Amino acid sequence: MNIETLQSRIEGKVTTSTDPRYEQLRRNLIWNQLTPTRYPQLVVQVASENDVVEAVQYARANNMKIAVRGGGHSWIGLPLCDGSLLIDLGRLTQVAINLHTRTATIQPAVTGQALNQQLAAHGLAFPIGHCPNVPLSGFLLNGGLGWNSNEWGPACFSIEAAHVVTADGRLVVANEKHYADLLWAIRGAGPRFFGVVTQYLVKLYPVPRAITTSKYYFPLQCIDEVGAWTGNIARQLPRSVELTIFCSPAPSALGEQCRSSNGFMCILSATAFLDTRGEAAATLSLLENCPVLSQCLGKEVLQPTSLKTLLEMGGMLWPERHRCLADTVWSNSPPSQPLSTLREYFLKAPSPESLAVCVFSTGAEDCTVVQPEAAFSMMAETLLLCYAIWEQPEGDDTNTAWHRETIAALHAFAVGHYIGESDIITEPSRIERSFAPANWQRLQSLRRTYDPDGLFHRDFSDR
Ligand SMILES: Cc1cc2nc3c(=O)[nH]c(=O)nc-3n(C[C@H](O)[C@H](O)[C@H](O)COP(=O)(O)OP(=O)(O)OC[C@H]3O[C@@H](n4cnc5c(N)ncnc54)[C@H](O)[C@@H]3O)c2cc1C
Repeated sequence: MNIETLQSRIEGKVTTSTDPRYEQLRRNLIWNQLTPTRYPQLVVQVASENDVVEAVQYARANNMKIAVRGGGHSWIGLPLCDGSLLIDLGRLTQVAINLHTRTATIQPAVTGQALNQQLAAHGLAFPIGHCPNVPLSGFLLNGGLGWNSNEWGPACFSIEAAHVVTADGRLVVANEKHYADLLWAIRGAGPRFFGVVTQYLVKLYPVPRAITTSKYYFPLQCIDEVGAWTGNIARQLPRSVELTIFCSPAPSALGEQCRSSNGFMCILSATAFLDTRGEAAATLSLLENCPVLSQCLGKEVLQPTSLKTLLEMGGMLWPERHRCLADTVWSNSPPSQPLSTLREYFLKAPSPESLAVCVFSTGAEDCTVVQPEAAFSMMAETLLLCYAIWEQPEGDDTNTAWHRETIAALHAFAVGHYIGESDIITEPSRIERSFAPANWQRLQSLRRTYDPDGLFHRDFSDR
């Protein structure tokens, strides 16, 4: 089959690297403005599952490696692989909700915002990512640490079935009865997955009726004390509370007071996903016991909110059309230690838009136990995420150097990484460290079974 034949057999569009529109297309495929210098040979923008089958068969026949794009939100531009045939799923954006079974069938490029909008109309919800435009495609495959995922679980645990085009060019349905091992891998393998997921079937949840947020704004100097106390009380809060400390740019009203800390501050934020305001107030009142409360520069307590508003706030913290670097560390260290390290680095952060987040495990149960139904298997008491965010290319060198140094310093506290937001290109060892050892071995073995010829890009160090 040649390119013309492939084009004639699909509803979507084939673009070669010699096409005058290629470079614009290549850039548009990646959300991060820091576009990698990696060049696919062919981009196939599919319009149906059949198009994916055709594209896989073309790659096989022409001995090309396959890369996949869901919505292009990988921080490190993973869909762009040199010389590959890139299957772009970005046109697959349909959602069908089944109220009877309380499930939704989702095509890969559906965003969290689009899904939430449709579910909200039926009083339903899903643990979508924290920013409006994060596509479900790679988010679910990575594990999916979304809103209320302490309670609802990482989003991949809500996948009941999926359609997959395998490396031999077959469209199969993976569920608990058929291809159960594929379903297991889809739940967390992330970019190590060895097929193309063209559709997810996910279970849905009743939307909590009284989502409520409390926020406390502290000087950056207090971050270790706030972190130490928060770490101690986190397990006393129910799982339905999402508990986070941000090392964040100060809002403009507090900018002057944070000038000595390079414009950054510490924000303690708790969102309760509960059904009554009374329950939420009683639950979040614990935060009033924080021993450094007297140093608080401001607070917004017990604010009624919604998933829509939470998404909008996420969109402001991680703005569109920026240059970004991201990395993550799962840690069991006392939180004051990594947080005081972060303070040291944010005092000299070159960009005022950069951000770090420390997410605490809430609830009495041990969330770090490996669950048999998913490849997703690396968790710890806290997840630390650090982002360099800036706008102009002139800032590339300073921000890259700062981010590398900050992440290197955080490494001392790491027991593993989250594959969905780690820089596995600069540090390929983070891939294996994103899984429990037995799960990593099983993934490797499944990969050999389902993709014996290594059709799907395998190593990130060789790009
Ligand atoms: C602003 C922003 C906010 C984010 N917030 C969160 C968050 O709250 N929680 C969280 O967990 N993550 C979050 N992420 C990370 C996000 O989950 C990943 O970037 C994820 O890969 C995005 O999905 P995508 O489809 O856009 O990935 P893409 O960039 O399109 O793809 C990345 C890789 O995933 C694989 N892949 C993707 N889709 C498929 C598929 N259908 N079949 C086979 N392989 C596929 C491929 O290997 C591909 O190279 C965020 C990212 C951004 C940029």
